[in-house]
Amino acid sequence: MSRIVYVNGDYVPEAEAKISVFDRGFLMADAVYEVTSVLGGKLIDFAGHVARLHRSLGELEMAQPVTDEALLAIHRELVARNGITDGLIYLQVTRGNPGDRDFLFPDPAATPSGIVLFPQSKPGLANAPAAKTGWRVISVPDVRWGRRDIKTTQLLYPSMGKMMAKKAGCDDAWFTEEGFVTEGTSNNAYIVKGRRIITRALSNDILHGITRAAVLRFAKEAQMEVEERSFTLAEAQAADEAFVTSASAFVMPVVEIDGAVLGSGKPGPVSVRLREIYLEESIKASV
Ligand code: PMP
Repeated sequence: MSRIVYVNGDYVPEAEAKISVFDRGFLMADAVYEVTSVLGGKLIDFAGHVARLHRSLGELEMAQPVTDEALLAIHRELVARNGITDGLIYLQVTRGNPGDRDFLFPDPAATPSGIVLFPQSKPGLANAPAAKTGWRVISVPDVRWGRRDIKTTQLLYPSMGKMMAKKAGCDDAWFTEEGFVTEGTSNNAYIVKGRRIITRALSNDILHGITRAAVLRFAKEAQMEVEERSFTLAEAQAADEAFVTSASAFVMPVVEIDGAVLGSGKPGPVSVRLREIYLEESIKASV
């Protein structure tokens, strides 16, 4: 597959895209990112992703290399040039290339931020077969850094978590800290007790999911009960249902946690309904 990608102002075939070996994103994971879904050629929750990008950049004192309007135009251009119907647009902003390796941040006046975007085509993204059967997850200790609210490219431990899940024959891992679930490797985690949806409150301990915000809003609009509080792994294993949310998985039911089967072992009604509502509403609002 040969894609057109966007690198620091230019649209180029992927084989011609180049980044300096001194780019701080490459050397130090000094970079933030966003992933926006594309369904039917349109962007899902784009405004939310841009708002979170602002926040991540602000927390790291990194400059935004292009305007929000330009970001939207680049996203749309990549969708068009690559003929993406369903898939993802990955966006990364790095602290750029200071021309050498140094722990100190370079002067932003002399070293502009770098920016890269590329598409991933995923036909039928919203009809993932896994949504019908649900994910089986394992728990692993959360040993990530203390600013998980910033969406940095430090993804080694989440990758290790996914590998641990794969080796255990499962679909994903939930991170736990002091007995409480923080979130999934690349998604926010929820349990359902009766008709009440429980998910950890926002803090520096978890990423402030864009899908999380939308799903909780839709749940409240549908008169579902939402409780934002921490829950233990044991509470999750005894829950009626569980699910995760992310920009690429949307609402994905979870049917097993560390071998404990939830409910009937099939995606529960609340998770299934939330997935339907999320897809319906976010497609309606897509740009
Ligand atoms: N938590 C983590 C650790 C993640 O990596 C992600 C996805 N990037 C999420 C939660 C979900 O965030 P969103 O709904 O914005 O994709």
